[in-house]
Amino acid sequence: MRTVPVRALASTLAPYTTLRLGGPAERLVEVRSADALVEVMRAADDAAEPVLLLGGGSNVVVADAGVPGTVVLLASAGRRLERRPDGSVLLTVEAGEDWDGVVAATVADGLGGLECLSGIPGRTGATPVQNVGAYGVEIGDLLVDVDLYDRRTGAVRANVPASQLGLGYRTSTLKGRADAIVLRVRMVLPGDGASAPIRYPELARTLGVEPGSRVPAATVREAVLALRRGKGMVLDPADHDTWSAGSFFTNPVLPAGSGPADAPRWPAGAGMVKLAAAWLIEQAGFRRGSPGPGGRVALSDKHVLALTNRGSGTTADLLELARSVRDGVRERCGVELVPEPVLVGCRL
Ligand SMILES: Cc1cc2nc3c(=O)[nH]c(=O)nc-3n(C[C@H](O)[C@H](O)[C@H](O)COP(=O)(O)OP(=O)(O)OC[C@H]3O[C@@H](n4cnc5c(N)ncnc54)[C@H](O)[C@@H]3O)c2cc1C
Repeated sequence: MRTVPVRALASTLAPYTTLRLGGPAERLVEVRSADALVEVMRAADDAAEPVLLLGGGSNVVVADAGVPGTVVLLASAGRRLERRPDGSVLLTVEAGEDWDGVVAATVADGLGGLECLSGIPGRTGATPVQNVGAYGVEIGDLLVDVDLYDRRTGAVRANVPASQLGLGYRTSTLKGRADAIVLRVRMVLPGDGASAPIRYPELARTLGVEPGSRVPAATVREAVLALRRGKGMVLDPADHDTWSAGSFFTNPVLPAGSGPADAPRWPAGAGMVKLAAAWLIEQAGFRRGSPGPGGRVALSDKHVLALTNRGSGTTADLLELARSVRDGVRERCGVELVPEPVLVGCRL
């Protein structure tokens, strides 16, 4: 089996998550190809052993008690560009490729489309799992299809169309279930070097353009990275504000008229509105830097939506802080916040 056992490198999963939290794995292996990933999954399933697949560990909260069975670290590599007759480009990427590396490479190749998704940590295979999005673009806008390994049948399903993945706001049918594994992802990019239309008002203001404009992709990438750095949303080992899982809560999508009357809201399809979770958290009395137990965890100094490990935190500390935020918002605003990361072996 072409896997690399890495157990000797770390006794806990903490170094493999961006929160730097999580207890031990019984067995830790790294896979460097889609075939090796399928092989490991099949072997574990045949032995009825639990498996946890980790990409960059940037959207998980792993229990202090650790994880039974095998943890698979995904490191398959490779990407391919095909120019299509209409001038667009089909981009095929192996699931283990670092996502921001893919965005940077497309921009360097003179291709637009992905630039608003610059600086999002993690691996490419996880991008459809919660339909990653930022600054007005979601992966679902560009995704054509994925190759999946279906653990229920033991078969690889090639070219599963994006339309069958139930992509929605920070969700898909892949999220929270472990039986459908993304092996590779295909996206279509415009191919003319211009960005996707700039939809996000803050980004349009930063670029000094009208919403809807298309701008050189490289210019947008730089602007997005600068905005994200200001919010602690680009990983930096020296900055505890980035020891997080990104936004800890999704913006609640509720029937129109829900929540406090003065809460900022945006239309979210048929009779629904999206409320700003950050605003609700502030209404409940939390501020940037609000500490959790012993100050070992805290809301980020730059962004109330990010729950961070200040260096000596535990998952139990983080969950306690998350519960106090969730309960505070429920009491003050009557709205139930839902966590964005996948909770592994623990719950709120
Ligand atoms: C600082 C910071 C900023 C962030 N900003 C954003 C943002 O702007 N927008 C956004 O949407 N998200 C954001 N995130 C969240 C996170 O980066 C994304 O969700 C990312 O796609 C997770 O990738 P990962 O490889 O780290 O997944 P992991 O955390 O390793 O895994 C997440 C879940 O997906 C599953 N999974 C992983 N790979 C696969 C696969 N190949 N097939 C099937 N299941 C798989 C895992 O088993 C797990 O359940 C941010 C996180 C951080 C820390």
